[in-house]
Amino acid sequence: MTDNYLDLVNTPLPGKIAKALGLPRPSVLRRYTPGEPIAAKPVLVTGSGAGAEALADVLLGWDVEVRRHVLPGEKLSAAVVVLDRAASPEDLAGPLLELGQAARVLVPGGRVVAVFRSAADTTDPAVAAARQGIDGAIRSVARELRGGATANGIVLRAGATTTDATTLGALRFFLSGRSAYVDGQFLEVSGTPAEGVAGLAAATAAVGEGVPDQPLAGRTAVVTGAARGIGAKIAETLARDGARVVAVDVPAAGEQLAQVANRVGGTALQIDITAPDAAARILEHVGGRYGTLDIVVHNAGITRDKLLANMDASRWDAVIAVNIASQLRMNEQFLASPVFSTTGRIISLASTSGIAGNRGQSNYAASKAGVIGMVRAQAASFDGAGRTINAVAPGFIETDMTAKIPPLTRQVARRLSSLQQGGLPVDVAEAIAFLASDAAAGVNGQVLRVCGQNLVGA
Ligand code: NAD
Repeated sequence: MTDNYLDLVNTPLPGKIAKALGLPRPSVLRRYTPGEPIAAKPVLVTGSGAGAEALADVLLGWDVEVRRHVLPGEKLSAAVVVLDRAASPEDLAGPLLELGQAARVLVPGGRVVAVFRSAADTTDPAVAAARQGIDGAIRSVARELRGGATANGIVLRAGATTTDATTLGALRFFLSGRSAYVDGQFLEVSGTPAEGVAGLAAATAAVGEGVPDQPLAGRTAVVTGAARGIGAKIAETLARDGARVVAVDVPAAGEQLAQVANRVGGTALQIDITAPDAAARILEHVGGRYGTLDIVVHNAGITRDKLLANMDASRWDAVIAVNIASQLRMNEQFLASPVFSTTGRIISLASTSGIAGNRGQSNYAASKAGVIGMVRAQAASFDGAGRTINAVAPGFIETDMTAKIPPLTRQVARRLSSLQQGGLPVDVAEAIAFLASDAAAGVNGQVLRVCGQNLVGA
């Protein structure tokens, strides 16, 4: 689906009319192109203390022009607010008011990234108030920014520092065009690299100077529901980043699936993921051809919408079977198999419906909230063991699934986010590619929303 309104308001006269009438004026988002510079213009690093200094040094090492204060008349590509030492709400004013100045001179598609500690890791009420306060302020900044700019946060869990490999990986993701449709979100990072992770050095190299354009080179990834929509884009994006892709979908989608597999130089596997032997067939295929399964993306999903009052068992059961029961069964079998890598990544598709609920989607929301529950519980069992599992929760994404929404509702749904537009499948795929990379080694049990800060839910 194309968003004709977005195209229209980005031409001169209709843009002026929309402005005069106070209508939404979504901007064309800055999306990733391999080899893009981290920042074309200077980046402000506000905040004091060793953590802020060290982070500013890292950015300098990435060949970024770093400023510690906003300079008159100078545009900024991004502002990084380091508040890792915030101990009371009074500590927020300095760096956040400086951020306010930076917001005035951010380039279109600019970025704000806050780095701070988790309120969950303190029992001191003033410290927790300061940390939680940053969360509220940054969510509000995200709602205020225009021109396709975004604001997100990196939340350091106990022991993590501003320059850990995963902190830097998350920073790089948020600064880049890969995070175009991620807005008002917070990614928790744990510091100590888990045992068995392919080495801190590798992770650091992946986020430091000379970042490889193919961070997933040598990895084998399985993507379910890959014949079309978001799944097809995930397959393309993982392949672009160097992964060998095994594209899975139902036999009925065989032709489209083969086209995707050919396009990405991967293989196609016609499997209904609700079949009891689905995981065994995938393991046999991957084990036989490539030896190791590194990345699993549980993308296949269906909707069978009805108000609960009108819901029948077949609609309910079908959604639960495809969207969550199959994932639970497959994960159990993957995790028990020597083919699944000791540093393996599982990334599962949730939905903002699973966070906020959605009228007519009690079955779908149960399945997607179920994904979130599954991811959190499974992640706890992975802690420190080298594997990770995370979820990505898309909001309104332009696909066949959302093309079924009636036109007026669809128009409204698009504008109900801070970025005033729907996301593209590639936006979801970029978040998944990031979570699959070494740079995200310390991200586990997280639900990353790719929703343009949709008004639905938190
Ligand atoms: P889509 O309907 O375009 O594609 C889904 C794919 O999954 C299809 O190719 C389909 O054949 C496949 N599939 C369905 N059942 C299967 C099964 N039993 N075995 C194997 N493959 C199966 O959907 P999409 O919009 O690309 O969504 C992809 C994922 O993202 C889904 O999990 C969906 O719930 C989630 N999501 C989408 C949106 C959105 O706005 N489009 C929002 C939130 C979440």
